[in-house]
Amino acid sequence: MTRLLLMVLSLSFCALGQAPSKCSKCQGTGLIACTSKDHDTKKHCGISRPHLCDAVLGAKCCGGLQKIACANCNRLDIAEELDRERITRESWLATQRKYDTDTRIQMSHVQTDNMIVHWSPLTWKVGETILSRSRAAHLYADRVEHLAEKFKKVTGVLPTQRQSVWIMKAPAEEGVVTLLYMGGGYTNPFKQLGQTGNFATWPNRQTGTTEDEFMHQHVIHNTTHLLVEAGHNFRLEFSPWFVEGLAHWMEIEYFGEARNYCFQEINVKGPWENADWPKKLFGEISGGKDLPLSGMYGKKMDQMSHRDTAYNWSFVDGLIRSIDEAKFPDYYRTLKSTNDGQAALDQVFGLSSTSFQERWRAWALKRYGAR
Ligand SMILES: [Zn+2]
Ligand SMILES: [Zn+2]
Ligand SMILES: [Zn+2]
Ligand SMILES: [Zn+2]
Repeated sequence: MTRLLLMVLSLSFCALGQAPSKCSKCQGTGLIACTSKDHDTKKHCGISRPHLCDAVLGAKCCGGLQKIACANCNRLDIAEELDRERITRESWLATQRKYDTDTRIQMSHVQTDNMIVHWSPLTWKVGETILSRSRAAHLYADRVEHLAEKFKKVTGVLPTQRQSVWIMKAPAEEGVVTLLYMGGGYTNPFKQLGQTGNFATWPNRQTGTTEDEFMHQHVIHNTTHLLVEAGHNFRLEFSPWFVEGLAHWMEIEYFGEARNYCFQEINVKGPWENADWPKKLFGEISGGKDLPLSGMYGKKMDQMSHRDTAYNWSFVDGLIRSIDEAKFPDYYRTLKSTNDGQAALDQVFGLSSTSFQERWRAWALKRYGAR
């Protein structure tokens, strides 16, 4: 028995002793880091999130892989794997470059897990810093991907396909990209809703979107629309009260107030526009003058006033926060499947219109009164 044990021990000792010595250049991985600065992610990207971008993928040194095959050990399997990765990336880059040549617009393209941003303004001012086109595209890609993560957390789902945001220099450029890729030449902020949604816009001095914070908010509102429409179950005429309510909910989560309205009559002014919604809602609810959620179900986008919109934001907020936040994804899925607000309320929360309204009222009074 002892002899057997010794034999086993000496065998395993031998096996260890025979291991090939590792390549000193790559520690046996077959890969070494690319030392060229062509793919400089600090200079071009400035974000830590995984992504593809034309700035880094266009790098001659390593195609942005940041690693090259070790010439010392010359491993065929590693060289083939790198080639495969490189081909995938080259084809992505070729698609982006084709946008530039077809539109004759020079853009930066940054793709994250759920989003892709195409950006043309040459520079972009954020606070006191002037960002290059590439850095600005990265910043917005990071922001819309952050929104997608938040959207997933709240609703439980994300679109299966990537959504696109196009930020152009001026109306004429938007006209070109919308004509080529969105079925018409539009010069106002434009959303093409679908499984692969598109949102196109440009910095407008009149609406304030030349300012970074306003542009960010504008993009948050409209990208939320893309995510809602494409998420779970696509419906062209999906509940406008909910669509607007959730887009404002996101705006308010990020910025504390709503500034973007998707009405046809965008210039209609009223006391509820850019107002302190919680304060105004508190006033109406305490006076017993609140609007019912059931009255919102049938309204089309262009039939909604700023007041309706404030209520829709608060109804969505109440559905998320006043009952059971963990059930909201169920509500969202049911609403998307049935497009029937009352059915979703009943099936998921077991509430009638009246009992929801009562619950929302009590919650809103507490929440808005405490401010
Ligand atoms: Zn990058
Ligand atoms: Zn490189
Ligand atoms: Zn090596
Ligand atoms: Zn909207």
